[in-house]
Amino acid sequence: MAVKITDICIACGACIDECPVGAIVDDSENPTGADTYYVYADKCVECVGHHDSPACMEACPTEGCIVRGA
Ligand code: SF4
Ligand code: SF4
Repeated sequence: MAVKITDICIACGACIDECPVGAIVDDSENPTGADTYYVYADKCVECVGHHDSPACMEACPTEGCIVRGA
């Protein structure tokens, strides 16, 4: 149960501080080497127990950038 940041991420930074479990890293720390932010699937809890919906998806200005089901 995790969300995924897709390749249309513009690295704006709006999501990272919203994550209650520190699952998001910025482009400089993306383990895939892509120039996007990245969600560690083993840390992401889809905000269950923290928010009613994924906080990163709420914060992201890029439509369809963050998707569920990673
Ligand atoms: S869904 Fe919630 S827990 Fe998962 S990366 Fe986004 S903000 Fe973090
Ligand atoms: S808010 Fe969206 S576009 Fe901005 S860094 Fe996060 S995933 Fe990328």
